Amino acid sequence: MPVTKPQHFDIVIAGGGMAGSLLAWCLLRARPELRLALIERQASERQGGDKQSAEQAQRPQPASFDSRSIALAAGSVSLLKRWGLWQSLAANACPLQQIWVSDRGHFGKTRLTAAEYQQAALGQVLEVEYLGNLLSAKLAEQANLSYFQPDFITAITPAIESQTVQLNSGTVLSSSLLIIAEGGLSQSRQLAGFKVSSDDYQQSAVIANLALAQPHNNTAFERFTEHGPIALLPLTGQRYSLVWTVARDAAEGLLALDEPQFTAAVQQAFGYRAGLFTGAGARAQYPLLLRRPDEIVRHRTALLGNSLHNLHPIAGQGFNLAIRDIQAMLLALDDTSEPGSYQMLRTYQQLREQDIKRVIWFTDALVRGFSNNSRLVALARNAGLAAMLLCDPLKRPLAMQAMGRGQSYAKY
Ligand SMILES: Cc1cc2nc3c(=O)[nH]c(=O)nc-3n(C[C@H](O)[C@H](O)[C@H](O)COP(=O)(O)OP(=O)(O)OC[C@H]3O[C@@H](n4cnc5c(N)ncnc54)[C@H](O)[C@@H]3O)c2cc1C
Repeated sequence: MPVTKPQHFDIVIAGGGMAGSLLAWCLLRARPELRLALIERQASERQGGDKQSAEQAQRPQPASFDSRSIALAAGSVSLLKRWGLWQSLAANACPLQQIWVSDRGHFGKTRLTAAEYQQAALGQVLEVEYLGNLLSAKLAEQANLSYFQPDFITAITPAIESQTVQLNSGTVLSSSLLIIAEGGLSQSRQLAGFKVSSDDYQQSAVIANLALAQPHNNTAFERFTEHGPIALLPLTGQRYSLVWTVARDAAEGLLALDEPQFTAAVQQAFGYRAGLFTGAGARAQYPLLLRRPDEIVRHRTALLGNSLHNLHPIAGQGFNLAIRDIQAMLLALDDTSEPGSYQMLRTYQQLREQDIKRVIWFTDALVRGFSNNSRLVALARNAGLAAMLLCDPLKRPLAMQAMGRGQSYAKY
């Protein structure tokens, strides 16, 4: 039991990555009176640098904003606009006008265009560091937000109206609501009593940015090759973001290649449908697993982002789901609801469970479909990718109406 008198907050967010930082921004924007704490395990890259201003040194840099790029569905972009962020991100994002889905060595291919769905773009591709920089600048200006970084929770003590968390530094915090957004490997999730099942796909995603000899015309590719599925997402400038899913031991080999060898390996595996690759940037690999907790909420605690759904990136849905988690959290925490109350947590759970189940099921089916060479499976997965990208979170309010809740959703 903690002996130090806790500092009290309305909401403690554990994890200041993509989901946790965005959540903090959205909560403070929707309910500026709330007192928030954000606990991030990794030290800010900007902390301690000699040449930085005092303001920059205090400004936390969320740790999950690495060299990754993410495809954002049109509905996610609408939400980012509504939350006052997209206006500053649009110039660095690349609109997706068309997607080619094909099986190398098979006759069939599918092309999806924004025009055929009467949309300006099928989605947008954004390098996550732009979102990280924007959020860290915006959060640094928030008087009602306290950072605990680098730090992490070592014990959680429940009481009827609060959760008390002991931090590694010895600091003790209490809050009416604890939101865990620590990514797929969250420790606090276990400390809070959630049970997690996991399926290891025995695969890794190798990512890199590729330079091109010609313009990409805002075209993305998803290609199933004998060496694993390869996704190419167009970036600003003549560049592609590569996500290459390979068997885990093959990933190490790809990382060990020098740049020309790696570029040649991608070209050989993918072919020339996207043109000539002229170089590759820094590479990273991510082991691919599906992790699912048995519950979405527990006593005064909610899971959000990858802590709630840790998916294979093949369908590009992890962060799109997290954005919808945040929208649901804003709805559940409307002006009248008490953070962490039974009703509030129940609303959040009801808003999220079907969407998450559907996306997990679908993504898992896609991953398993990749190892199946049947044309029928290939066609189904092609159509499925389109459906996933076009799935519109703005349809959520309809579901809300069906559940008999009558508030104005346009606000969130
Ligand atoms: C190769 C790849 C491509 C992807 N492409 C897409 C895409 O196109 N579209 C899409 O929607 N999604 C995509 N995703 C998924 C997306 O990146 C994730 O869904 C997103 O990063 C989840 O954010 P998060 O904040 O929940 O978790 P994370 O990004 O893992 O962040 C967790 C944060 O919590 C911190 N933390 C961890 N443990 C603790 C602790 N104990 N205490 C305090 N802090 C802690 C970490 O330091 C980190 O800052 C992709 C993922 C990969 C790997």
